[in-house]
This record gives sequence, structure tokens and C-alpha cells, in this order.
Amino acid sequence: MSKYYPGIILRVYPGSLAEELELVPGDKILEINGQGLRDIIDLSFAMADEEIDMLVEHADGEQEMISFEKEIDEELGVEFESAVFDGIRNCANHCYFCFVDMIAPNMRQSLSIKDDDYRLSFLYGNFVTMTNMGPNDFRRIKQFHLSPLFVSVQCMNPELRAQMLRCPGAAKIAEQLDHLEEAGADYHTQVVLCAGLNDGAELERTIREVVARRPHALSLAIVPVGITKYRTDPFPLHQFDAEGAARVIDEVEKWQKKIQQEEGRTFIYLGDEFYFLAGRPVPPTSFYDGFPQLDNGIGLTRNFINDWDKESNAHEEIASYEEPVYLDVVTGTAVAPVMQELAKKAEDAHANLHVRIVPVKNEHFGTTVNVSGLLTAHDIMAALKRLDGPRAGILIPEPALRSGEDIFLDDVSLSSMREAFPESRIEPVQTGADYYRALMDWPHYAKRRAGETAYMWQSNAGYTKNIQY
Ligand code: SF4
Repeated sequence: MSKYYPGIILRVYPGSLAEELELVPGDKILEINGQGLRDIIDLSFAMADEEIDMLVEHADGEQEMISFEKEIDEELGVEFESAVFDGIRNCANHCYFCFVDMIAPNMRQSLSIKDDDYRLSFLYGNFVTMTNMGPNDFRRIKQFHLSPLFVSVQCMNPELRAQMLRCPGAAKIAEQLDHLEEAGADYHTQVVLCAGLNDGAELERTIREVVARRPHALSLAIVPVGITKYRTDPFPLHQFDAEGAARVIDEVEKWQKKIQQEEGRTFIYLGDEFYFLAGRPVPPTSFYDGFPQLDNGIGLTRNFINDWDKESNAHEEIASYEEPVYLDVVTGTAVAPVMQELAKKAEDAHANLHVRIVPVKNEHFGTTVNVSGLLTAHDIMAALKRLDGPRAGILIPEPALRSGEDIFLDDVSLSSMREAFPESRIEPVQTGADYYRALMDWPHYAKRRAGETAYMWQSNAGYTKNIQY
């Protein structure tokens, strides 16, 4: 057994230092200047030097010491198979609301990774509970200035948190946040809100205590719990209905107004689903303070609409369609009204454009799951096959595809879907700008997916990032 944690190279960028050094995919970086490497954080710090001795193991098992000089801030120019060479740190919890436990059997194995790794939190914005962290971790956070992090708070009541996470150590949330602050780290926070559990007076307490931790606490996102039909956990969890969602919005609004008066920003944001459920419009752009938790799905709808508006303002002249163009727009049920409203604008501008919004019920996970990003190919194809009439094209939500790949959650490929609808062109849509371009200039619209940043591994938090659309 090697004593090293190898950093396995996945890709070498053209023209990079790594290419000059003749490193190739599959090579393993074992050591830099005599130091072993746990992750790309260690690697970055070890590489911040002008003289480097790099121990590399090639695919044939041969080890080679490569010595070279570089500018102190010159990057190596590679992607690794994983950012954490010593393995993803798993969570120590059994949360009542764990979405990983609610994934259907036979789904991609990568969807069932229960990561809770503060390094991925720093590097990629994954949320961590901190229940698996000890003094060495906080020392490292301090030493390497790993800030900001993203913390799943859920609630500040210690007993309730330990109960909800089914982890006695979870009770130490206040202490752990203190440790982060002592280490000089700031943090964004998140609450997964479960009706009748951590809402009401408990939410009030959580907000009060997190707000009191400003400026180290940078933001607080509150998202409603999602429950699929595959949940087998015996603890009874409840989702919000329209009335409950409206109550949460009203309660949180009091705090939002107070903080806006105090420091001119909102600080606390609700997931779009609360607004959809309550039948209220999503807040305006100014409300989101620059969208600090967009990767967590917070403000996605407003951002999507903004993107549409920006693209629409950039194109004053619109070439009209000479022939009728019939497009089907596949969407989760929650966001369908927003997609419809934007489509109406496009139809008003284009006499020959005919858009049909196709809200797809999520039969796979259960119909309470209403976001576009969790639609499976089977459900999409079944909904499309039920529809008659002309159809030049089909727009599908890009987040339903695995990041960087053309594969749906149920392992069906985009090309298989295309084969099933040979008469229509199928294109993914990610942003509001994509949606605008697809509707307004369908003949030339082709979403370029190649070259987009791919997640190198699928993590739970990375997964939840995509669930809103
Ligand atoms: S929700 Fe996250 S922290 Fe909780 S059990 Fe699931 S993976 Fe672990």
C-alpha cells in the first residue's frame, strides 16, 4: 500500500505548465517538495513556490521525480479526478430529511454519496453540517484561510438539531460556529424547513441566533423540505402547503425588513418554492443582494427572468419566422407559470411562434417533487408522447441532465431521447438567455454544452444545487 494519497490527473490543459512537463491523464501526483497531498488545497499551497520537486507515478507504475522552476503564482493547469485525494469525507448523520435516502433504487450510484466535507464546502459551496469535524479541521481552516464555508444549520436548538440529524454531536452547532469564527472563517448558512418541526418558534430562534452572528454569518437560506415517494424513514415529515408557505413568507419578511433597515441588505432568503406554493411572485432582484446563494438555488427564478430580460434588451431587431414554428417547453410543474409568462412575451413578439408549455408531473419521485431538475427522461417522454399536433422542437431543462454530460437521472441519454422523437429537434435550456434565444431564434439555437465546466464528481450538495430547475 502506498503511503501517498495520489492526485490522479483527469485532464491536462493545452499550453499549460503540466503539458510542458509532459504530464498526461492518468499520471498520479504523489508528493510536492517532500510533502504528501491530501487534496487540491495542499497541492495549491505546495505549488506556491518557485522551485518544485514533484514526485509522479505514471500509468505503468514507474515513479519519477520531476524538478522544475516556475513563477510563484503559475498554475499547473490540470483537472483531477477528485479534488480530495484522500477521499470524500462522509457524513455522520441520519437526517430525517435526507434526500439521498429518498432517491429511487437503481438511480446512479453517484447520487447516493453522502458527503459532508468542509473542503468541498470551501471549494465548491457544498453545505456541511460540521458534525464530523474536530480540532485539526478547524486548525486547517485557520492555517489555509478556508473561508467562506457553507453550513447546514437546520436549527439552533441543540436538542432539536441532534434529533433531526440523528447525531448527538449535532447539538454542538453554536460551539462549532464559534470555532469557525475563531478560525477566521465566514460562512453562509442554510435551513431545510420541515413543517411542524423546525418552523414557527424554532425558526424564529434560528433566525435570531444566526442573525446575531453577523458579520461572520454572511447569509441565511431557508428551503422547504422535499419528500419523494421513496422515503422509508419512519419519522413523519410534513411538507408545506399554500397556507404554511404563506405563513413562512410573512414571518421571515419581518426579519428581512428589520435587517434591510439596519444594514441595507436582506440577509435571509427563501427558496423559490415557498413563493410558488403560496402563489406569490418571487422577490425583485434588489432583494437578493447579488445572489450569494444562487448555486444553492436561491433566487434562481429571478435570475432566470433577469437573464431573459438582459438577452431581450440586447436584441432590439427580431427576424420574424416566415413559417409557423411550434415548440414544446418541458418544465417541472412549480415553475411552469413563469415559463408560460415568458413564452407569452415571445409569442407577442413573433406572430408565427407557437409555444406549448409541458409541465411534467414527476411520477418517478412522486408528484410532490415539482422541480425541473429532478425530472427523468421516462416521465418527460411519456408526457410528450401524450401530446398531438405539430412540433418542430422540444426544449428540455438542462439541470435534468447530469452536469457536463448528456445523461438524465434515470440513465437515459439525451441521444436516446432524440431518437425517440425523430421529427423534432431537442435542445437543452439552462438560463433565461438560452430560453430567450431558443424561442426567438429557433433555427439557429443550439445549446453548446461542450466545454462547460464539468463537476468532476457528483456530490450530494452538488446534486441539491441543481434541483430547482
Ligand atoms: S442530509 Fe446530508 S448530512 Fe444529512 S444524512 Fe443526508 S447527506 Fe448526511
